[in-house]
Amino acid sequence: MDLEQILHEITQDMATRPDRGRVANYIPQLACIDPDQFAISVCLADGTQYSCGDADMSFSIQSVSKVFALALALGRVGDHLWTRVGREPSGQAFDSILLLEQEKGRPRNPFINAGAIVTTDTYLEGHSPAEALGGLMRFVREAADDEDIHIDDSVARSEIATGHRNFALAHYMLSHGNLRHAPDLTLGTYFHQCAIAMNTAQLARAGRFLMNSPDLVRMLSPGRVRRINALMITCGQYDGSGDFAYRVGLPGKSGVGGGILVIAPGQASIAVWSPGLNHYGNSHLGTLAVETLARDTGWSIFG
Ligand code: GLN
Repeated sequence: MDLEQILHEITQDMATRPDRGRVANYIPQLACIDPDQFAISVCLADGTQYSCGDADMSFSIQSVSKVFALALALGRVGDHLWTRVGREPSGQAFDSILLLEQEKGRPRNPFINAGAIVTTDTYLEGHSPAEALGGLMRFVREAADDEDIHIDDSVARSEIATGHRNFALAHYMLSHGNLRHAPDLTLGTYFHQCAIAMNTAQLARAGRFLMNSPDLVRMLSPGRVRRINALMITCGQYDGSGDFAYRVGLPGKSGVGGGILVIAPGQASIAVWSPGLNHYGNSHLGTLAVETLARDTGWSIFG
């Protein structure tokens, strides 16, 4: 298998696709991103990395940040987190409020917005938002082995001004006693977390701690890594998680910035980026690209 060749062919193929999906427009700062961009990057367990396309273009990682937030929150409070958030796929859109009423303010999983807001509320405990975000950035920079990763404040502010659904979710959970801080405090932190900007090569490196490869420096216990991967495959693409598992067969976490972090356990950490989204809010070409990569490498966890 010539991985470099596979990535090159995928990048060439994606450049010719007429249907590139639609960029997220509910966050004004993301609406103006050029949908013609594409990048893919793969870090192997032996430390080698291959990248193709616009791999040094920075983008808003959005909900991919929920994986790092979850790792941080689990490190802080351990399994106590599960008293406030479930571990089941929701079968609903990422910003849905539907099940929250039925389930008395306890979100289905940590990757839908409601669950991620509770996760942020958890790592915020005992800290100011600046301290909490500082802790998250330390985690992300250490994972990527790169100090040059920052939060794009203009994206965060754009969401603070328009994120009415997230405010609704936070207030609803607060009414059930499942938020410890004022909604503007938790959401201010959550929006800044989503506004972390990285390029595709950095994101692939930041995902290496989820590979559970014995030669990698571990930032989290193997048991936790295994369970985060389980949540990624069942819930990581919201109501598109079943389709993603069927097509790609690997744990992944998407964001509305068009990035997807995908893990081939023990083998590789993969990042892909293309800003146009499918109707689940996941990168359209990104999904197609990792589907091809999983097929050509045989990396699907289902053999
Ligand atoms: N910041 C975005 C939101 O809360 C994240 C959503 C996403 O990437 N799916 O709406």
